[in-house]
Amino acid sequence: MDMREYIGEAEKALLHTYNRYQIVLERGDGVRLYDMEGKEYLDFVAGIAVFAFGYNNREYNEALKAQIDKIIHTSNYYYNIPAIQAAKKLKKVSGMDRVFFTNSGAEAVEGALKAARKYAYLKDGRTDHEIIAMNHSFHGRTFGALAVTGNPKYREPFEPLIGNIRFGSMNDIGSVKAQITDRTCAIILETVQGEGGLVPATEDFLKEVRAICDERDILLILDEIQCGMGRTGYMYAWQKYGVKPDIMTTAKALGCGVPVGAFLMTEKVGQNSLAAGDHGTTYGGNPLACAAVEKVLDLFEQNHIIENVREVAPYLEKRLEELKEKHDCITERRGTGLMQGLVLDRPVGDTINRALENGLILINAGANIIRFVPPLIITKDNVDEMISILEKSLV
Ligand SMILES: *Cc1c(COP(=O)(O)O)cnc(C)c1O
Repeated sequence: MDMREYIGEAEKALLHTYNRYQIVLERGDGVRLYDMEGKEYLDFVAGIAVFAFGYNNREYNEALKAQIDKIIHTSNYYYNIPAIQAAKKLKKVSGMDRVFFTNSGAEAVEGALKAARKYAYLKDGRTDHEIIAMNHSFHGRTFGALAVTGNPKYREPFEPLIGNIRFGSMNDIGSVKAQITDRTCAIILETVQGEGGLVPATEDFLKEVRAICDERDILLILDEIQCGMGRTGYMYAWQKYGVKPDIMTTAKALGCGVPVGAFLMTEKVGQNSLAAGDHGTTYGGNPLACAAVEKVLDLFEQNHIIENVREVAPYLEKRLEELKEKHDCITERRGTGLMQGLVLDRPVGDTINRALENGLILINAGANIIRFVPPLIITKDNVDEMISILEKSLV
């Protein structure tokens, strides 16, 4: 079958929940992807902030193959070595105390919400606790995660979702304060909003949210699924601000392609929330997934991934700013680190399609924003190449 035919087959077999770009990707190497016709693309999406050190990393591939030959799966009713090692390393880089491995980002958010509700329940025995989330947030597609996602279009057809969710606005402390009641048990936000348009929390806002949480024993949940794992030049974006969450979620680049996520918490929350029997997962934290996590965390250190982000990100930012100055159709640059966005005065679909034709993979965030979440190993040369293809694709 040729590429057209495969796409036809896909549209007959897969549920149509995505308007997919018309290419079949077959393999990758470093920051390059290849479709099944052998066409090469420079990748500035990384599977949506997943493939931190690019495709076909030999050491990573070998670690997975070795684990496959030992054991792929056991139940969480037994211990396994990769999960123990991965949890220890994740604790070290995050500064959190307790880890629960999941299979996805949405599941990590579900677990975080359950932990927060249980924490509050153990305090006062009530079952009407409220959670405050942010407008324009994105936390995933399952019922709990969707309930705290601040995009009515995603939520509405599936209501009723879990109840007692209230919304404030990012970087508007008054709007958050206005939603607090004596039943508030948690505030959840992305340290840098991803899907919602590449909006970093300001330091003042985060510090004020932290202060309110401390005052009232409300748990702060930071969703680091997209902005975490080195993307902002810090292992986790909150580490830049010195504002520590009580519960944190991570996924996407955590497994660099193997489906795995986690929610983590402080010892205090760990001792006073989910206990034996309260939560579980068949696959979560299995040896294959955790062998990936372990190797990912090793490679971050070995390959100085965060140092590279700190070196290349300011250059990307500068080149995007220059592009904005040159083209009236670009109204704003947003974001931080290797998590950037360009806001256009029109929908970005055509530009992204033209970029694809010109050998560059980009993705949107909402209708009018082009999002840049490349592999964390990109070089300044890759940035220059991207900018020149993008510029060609703008007209
Ligand atoms: C992608 C994402 C999720 C959902 O993760 P899945 O693995 O797709 O379930 C949740 N929160 C944020 C901030 C994300 O970017």
